[in-house]
Amino acid sequence: MIKGELLYEGKAKTVYATDNPDELLVYFKDDATAGNGAKHDIIAGKGIINNKISEFFFKQLKDRGIKSHFVEKAGEREMVVKKLDMIKLEIVVRNIIAGSLVKRLGLPEGTPLAVPIVEYYYKSDELGDPMLNRYHILALNLAKIDELNQIEHVAFSINTILRELLKAKNVDLIDFKLEFGRDKEGMVLLADEISPDNCRFWDVETHKKLDKDRFRQDLGGVEEAYQEILNRLTM
Ligand code: ADP
Ligand code: UDP
Repeated sequence: MIKGELLYEGKAKTVYATDNPDELLVYFKDDATAGNGAKHDIIAGKGIINNKISEFFFKQLKDRGIKSHFVEKAGEREMVVKKLDMIKLEIVVRNIIAGSLVKRLGLPEGTPLAVPIVEYYYKSDELGDPMLNRYHILALNLAKIDELNQIEHVAFSINTILRELLKAKNVDLIDFKLEFGRDKEGMVLLADEISPDNCRFWDVETHKKLDKDRFRQDLGGVEEAYQEILNRLTM
């Protein structure tokens, strides 16, 4: 596999073409941003850890019937993926109240939800990722109704799988964000990454945060927390 042209430089990853027109190379950076880029820092080693954690989750999901863009890990910070036509949505699944939901619902962080919630956000840096409902998505032609139904079903299945995997490692899955895209046959696949950058993980007993909130909230020990998640999952 030959690393080709730089196609896209994102906030946390860089995407390159490869010699295979159906595949891309994703490079995981150490950059961390919050507040739509307002806060920025380098977390040494984050890219290496997130590449490994994402590989772990994509493989575990594949074993349980969830198809994703993951092809193979290609280097410390690099992953080969299927090239997808990305659906411009961020799909957030929540089990416990945290982050933006604390303010919006006026309930304390850590409040369990009676059932998991799915939320949709329009992936647009210019607009600050506004929340959408199913009608906005269909009206804006971001996804077809069958695609949306599939995405919602898969998102809840992923939640069940990840919760169980993490619980066995003494970690609670608070919430997480997914992205999906279409392959050249039009099949909808899970894409992007699954890591402490886009999930909230808390230690079951102490409720210690083991995710990007350590960066967002200046709690320190960011790299150590990411490493702790990798160790618990893979050791
Ligand atoms: P952002 O764009 O939010 O700054 P990243 O730094 O993570 O995010 O950049 C990675 C980009 O690659 C994202 O825009 C994501 O939607 C896109 N992407 C992820 N998986 C694929 C894929 N399989 N095919 C095409 N694009 C992808
Ligand atoms: N999230 C993400 N990217 C975003 C916004 C949110 O990966 O642009 C993840 C975040 O890490 C958390 C979940 O989605 O696991 C819910 O985030 P929330 O809506 O609470 O937003 P926040 O307050 O974290 O910006």
